[in-house]
Amino acid sequence: CGIFGVVGVPDAANFVALGLHALQHRGQEAGGIVSWAPELGFSSARRFGYVRDNFTSKTLMDTLPGSLAMGHVRYSTAGHKGQTAIRDVQPLFAEFAMGGCAIAHNGNLTNAEAMKHELIQAGSIFQSSSDTECIIHLMARSIQKTIPERMKDALRRVEGAFSVIAMTRSKLIGVRDPLGVRPLVLGRVGNGWALSSETCALDIIGAEFVREIEPGEMVIITPDGIESFHPFAPAKSRFCIFEYVYFSRPDSVIGGRSVYETRRQIGVELAREAPVEADLVCPVPDSGTPAAIGFSQESGIPYAMGIIRNQYMGRTFIEPTAEIRNMGVRLKLNVNRAIIAGKRVVLVDDSVVRGTTSQKIREMILDAGAKEVHFRIASPPTSWPCFYGVDTPDREKLLAAHMTEEQMRVHLGVDSLKFVSLEGLYRATGQEEGRTASPRFCDACFSGEYPIRPSDVVDSGRLQ
Ligand code: 5GP
Ligand code: SF4
Ligand code: MG
Repeated sequence: CGIFGVVGVPDAANFVALGLHALQHRGQEAGGIVSWAPELGFSSARRFGYVRDNFTSKTLMDTLPGSLAMGHVRYSTAGHKGQTAIRDVQPLFAEFAMGGCAIAHNGNLTNAEAMKHELIQAGSIFQSSSDTECIIHLMARSIQKTIPERMKDALRRVEGAFSVIAMTRSKLIGVRDPLGVRPLVLGRVGNGWALSSETCALDIIGAEFVREIEPGEMVIITPDGIESFHPFAPAKSRFCIFEYVYFSRPDSVIGGRSVYETRRQIGVELAREAPVEADLVCPVPDSGTPAAIGFSQESGIPYAMGIIRNQYMGRTFIEPTAEIRNMGVRLKLNVNRAIIAGKRVVLVDDSVVRGTTSQKIREMILDAGAKEVHFRIASPPTSWPCFYGVDTPDREKLLAAHMTEEQMRVHLGVDSLKFVSLEGLYRATGQEEGRTASPRFCDACFSGEYPIRPSDVVDSGRLQ
């Protein structure tokens, strides 16, 4: 998911709509914006579909006045996956004795089921299937006097990955979980402030990047300034390495490092680890493009656009059902026959999950007359599901969970298949020493080492 908030600028909701549009790659199912203005109090709009199809209407935007606003774009990883109900669309909103509070969450709580059960036993009435709603009920039960204090109470009780933006009638609040699994950055816009999942959304509104919210940090922002708190026990940070591989936009900067440059460097590592004789290096667009550029530069094999992407399609993976995903690949990608015919082609993609994309592409590229097809993948084999906010499927659907590299090569029907090593991936992030005994990132979907216990799935015996 993507989250964005602004305080201290007129017509804040318009900035939020722009910010969410720049974060659309993080979630395409639905979006919502909440604003606050003295004359109207809180206003909110939640819609299915793209930001540009909803939050550009003047009639709608006129209902979201004020200089304080925040929003969310949704990609379902919890609750009713793929059949989002409008009541699951964030920001969620609640009235407490001390005033209203809106909340938007990127990530996934790993103890939400147990927590929800406990809260329902104690009398809470849930209105959505979203794990985020637990935070609201925990806040309702807190005995603290202010909303930020109640929020600290609530967030100390949940486990998992959370970057959260919340707002009261006067404050914008940002929090990251103790390990900082999901991103959250602070920007300066005019005389006000912005919070955003990624820096690319600061660029779109002309905001200046100030700094990242630290893992385990809570910031409370008013037009007058920022207060910072560290409400959790200190922990070693474990940012999601897959944000670098796929999830974030290449024009974002994370941890002082360009996402594009990291992806290009993964391609360089791949070319060193798994060289091959070929005529062309082609990306599977757009997710494989920077790594293909790096592979081409390092190997000296010419780069070409052998597969053309229809720019009017969204991300295929994020379309939740298998039927849509299967069709999606062909609606989205087509082979550029003229340049592929008779060639030995290296295809570079960011990841293999179910193998659907790779299989379709291999078919298309052989149909187009390619002489050889070599897959190079800019991440290690995805063998484990993510419980922290990326919708990797159950383990049995992950190709790498039950096949060796050679079995996957045969299954995909290609001449060779190589994944970058976990070491190479860490080097590409700028960590010269590779992956150390105490790694800097979460890499659980590749290593199976979960830095946060996935309590709900472990306790219910669902983690195979
Ligand atoms: P597959 O077709 O193997 O199931 O999925 C791999 C493709 O999905 C890649 O091209 C990758 O760009 C894309 N993708 C989109 N979202 C995700 C995600 O959340 N996780 C992973 N691993 N790949 C994703
Ligand atoms: Fe990111 Fe993978 Fe960890 Fe999930 S399991 S947070 S996708 S690195
Ligand atoms: Mg892709």
